[in-house]
Amino acid sequence: MNTYTGGCQCGAIRFRARGTPPDSSICHCRMCQKAFGAYYAPLVSVRGMEFEWTRGQRKTFRSSNFVNRGFCGDCGTPLTYEAPDGTALAIGAFDHPEELAPTLQWGVEGKLPYVDDLASLPGYASESDPESAEFLRTMVSYQHPDHDTDQWPPQPGEAAKRARAGEENQ
Ligand SMILES: [Zn+2]
Ligand SMILES: [Zn+2]
Repeated sequence: MNTYTGGCQCGAIRFRARGTPPDSSICHCRMCQKAFGAYYAPLVSVRGMEFEWTRGQRKTFRSSNFVNRGFCGDCGTPLTYEAPDGTALAIGAFDHPEELAPTLQWGVEGKLPYVDDLASLPGYASESDPESAEFLRTMVSYQHPDHDTDQWPPQPGEAAKRARAGEENQ
């Protein structure tokens, strides 16, 4: 059985889904744009799957009489779309979103006029800009890693210990 894990950016909330996702989609409706602060919402249904929250509890906002939107109360990462017929999870919140390619679109009447042209915009890797390269070189990420952790954030001593172990391995 396939296992999919994920969580919010800060790591306060983690989840696990087991089984086969019934569908994976993007929704262009205005409610999803707002809830995700984005052009559209990438969502995978976990209906019929074994699903559990493995760390923390999401907060919810009741966006309509039918739907609750779940998110991390600490860092704000959008996490769920919870409707009477089932729950869907934000694809970008998964540890491996590349495994959850969308297969259909909803709410196309709300599609923003430039969305279809996004793929044809000029694109650059972060390192191609010298300023971003320096930014990336000196950046320390506080984002939860893309896998389950026994403890998060790491204990102050732990990070130093790991850094030393890393140096010794080099
Ligand atoms: Zn969080
Ligand atoms: Zn929507």
